Amino acid sequence: MDIERLRTDTPGCAKVAHLNNAGAALPPRPVIEAVNEHFALESTIGGYEAAERNEAAVQHFYDAVARLIGAHADEIAYVENATRAWDMAFYSIPFAEGDRILTTTTEYSSSAIAYQQVAAAKGVKVDAIPDEADGTLSLDALEAELVKGDVRLVSLNHIPTHNGLITPAAGVGRLCRQHGVLYLLDACQSVGQLAIDVGEIGCDMLSGTGRKYLRGPRGTGFLYVRRDILRTLVPPFLDLQAATWHVPNSFEMRDDAQRFETWERYVAGQIGLGVAAAYAADLGMTDIETRVIGLAAKLREELAARPGVTVLDKGPRPSGIVTFSVDGHDPAAIQAAARERDINVNVTNPLSHGYDLGAPSAAVRASVHYYNTEEELERLLSVLPER
Ligand SMILES: *Cc1c(COP(=O)(O)O)cnc(C)c1O
Repeated sequence: MDIERLRTDTPGCAKVAHLNNAGAALPPRPVIEAVNEHFALESTIGGYEAAERNEAAVQHFYDAVARLIGAHADEIAYVENATRAWDMAFYSIPFAEGDRILTTTTEYSSSAIAYQQVAAAKGVKVDAIPDEADGTLSLDALEAELVKGDVRLVSLNHIPTHNGLITPAAGVGRLCRQHGVLYLLDACQSVGQLAIDVGEIGCDMLSGTGRKYLRGPRGTGFLYVRRDILRTLVPPFLDLQAATWHVPNSFEMRDDAQRFETWERYVAGQIGLGVAAAYAADLGMTDIETRVIGLAAKLREELAARPGVTVLDKGPRPSGIVTFSVDGHDPAAIQAAARERDINVNVTNPLSHGYDLGAPSAAVRASVHYYNTEEELERLLSVLPER
């Protein structure tokens, strides 16, 4: 990859060493321009008129996201963020009393809250599948649960928000298919970071966000739902985009993934997210993945060599999310010291991993992207406290 060119294409790189890509990455110039230009057009000719004129760019979103993850355009919905995208899938599943949901020890707190809500309302049970010794989800333990026959849904994240761990998503998919169980994958941290093919993974539903590794605008997200199951899912909310009213007493839902959408939306954001998805696909997701994982491995290696630093990431091949603690130093103070030198890192929130009882209460999270450089990693290392 031509990192210098990619950095020139990213205005933010001139201002900050941005190691908070798991929070919100710096967008590249084509995304910035697409969003700004559409908003400018709305401001000058009117919002409806602008959407009409940019109809091709709006539609391009579906093709671009589908291409990025190996899906069909009619399997993609545009949703305002990944949480709502995930909700639209999750709350459309007709759970019955006694059904079980299987998840992972690293599950995202918003999803865990949704499980608890459905557990309380419908008598569903929720279990976190135990991990192997290296911290990855145990496929053997998953299979042992699936054979019991009461699992309605396997729902988990591909990469958690607070650790570099990568879930063996395709292994989970194979088991779910074997046992005929629905599989919902939260790919918020993996889309734009790892090469993803929904067919290879074998998930039925997948949610993603715009602002993280995809480098799209904030306030954007998407949902993928596999064609074969799409028509069996009734979204929890339907509007005039999702369905047609047959006046006065009936309605008909769309038969593509846009049944999970609402009509009103951040049109500039949808266009920008389409541009971001195409930008990533054109660069090549395999090259992006290799670069991100390589840079993160380098950072971990240097961190681990420093006295008093503990690298917390799990799994045999951790992602671009690097988490660590420094003995005797508050992660928030490290974040603040870095910020003063224009280095952005984040601090993990203990509630973001409530099922992961072994996780430290807080850690520094330095999440790298392909446009980061080794020099930026050195800058971060140079502001860490000496023990
Ligand atoms: C960020 C994140 C989400 C939520 O995405 P939003 O776009 O903020 O709704 C869900 N799961 C994981 C693992 C995340 O990191």
